[in-house]
Amino acid sequence: MSESTSVTTEPKIRVSGLVKSFGENEVLKGIDVDIVGGEVVCVIGPSGSGKSTFLRCLNKLEDITGGTVIVDGFDLTDKKVDIDKVRQHIGMVFQHFNLFPHMTALENVMLAPVQTKKATKEEARATALKLLAQVGLGEKANAKPASLSGGQKQRVAIARALAMSPDIMLFDEATSALDPEMVGEVLQVLRDLAAEGMTMVVVTHEMGFAREVSDRVIFMADGYIVEEGTPAELFGNPQHERTQDFLRKVL
Ligand code: ADP
Ligand code: MG
Repeated sequence: MSESTSVTTEPKIRVSGLVKSFGENEVLKGIDVDIVGGEVVCVIGPSGSGKSTFLRCLNKLEDITGGTVIVDGFDLTDKKVDIDKVRQHIGMVFQHFNLFPHMTALENVMLAPVQTKKATKEEARATALKLLAQVGLGEKANAKPASLSGGQKQRVAIARALAMSPDIMLFDEATSALDPEMVGEVLQVLRDLAAEGMTMVVVTHEMGFAREVSDRVIFMADGYIVEEGTPAELFGNPQHERTQDFLRKVL
């Protein structure tokens, strides 16, 4: 997998005709999108439009009903693909952080690399300390989640995802559950990651962030990509009525 990441002519993520149904309910109705290495793509759109489902299809947390999703050259719809191996390259951060409450911040961040035998305990500890410092929590390594603020917990969750050395990070409304004063500190971590060249797909309601940080903004509604473009195009000159309508409500 790592050999395919050096040359960036191939898209890192290639989604073609992606369809996802829950029973009779077709939630994604044919999504086509290519994302190249280092690109930051923000996905916006009304609630229920399929944003989370789309994100979850990118690491096969959902079974894919139709179409293909290719990540780092691996076709996720191919039954022979080792999905655990693919997932090791994809970090995901949700609205709710789901840290283990009985473990310290450090132990939470160390857990996956040790469990998957990606690192020894000592290596995992060193990496975790470095990552906690990177997200501004060097002093909270031994704190339990209950003693951390929402913003701090979410930053631990980001460090935990980074501990597996992903080359793609998926964020699903990572700041939506936070008190307003904590949104900024988490967005700053995302900003830093973007600046370092991480490939990121970010579902967000933070339009300021999407405008400032993304290379491309995708507007989804009713299971379709209605419109996509640079932030300047999408926010400054939206083409579709649906997009205009949505932006009028949120901006
Ligand atoms: P968004 O993230 O844009 O708010 P979602 O992807 O969460 O949208 O949901 C899109 C649609 O899919 C909604 O109608 C939702 O009810 C449905 N849906 C999502 N997950 C499931 C599930 N596990 N089972 C059944 N329906 C689901
Ligand atoms: Mg959602």
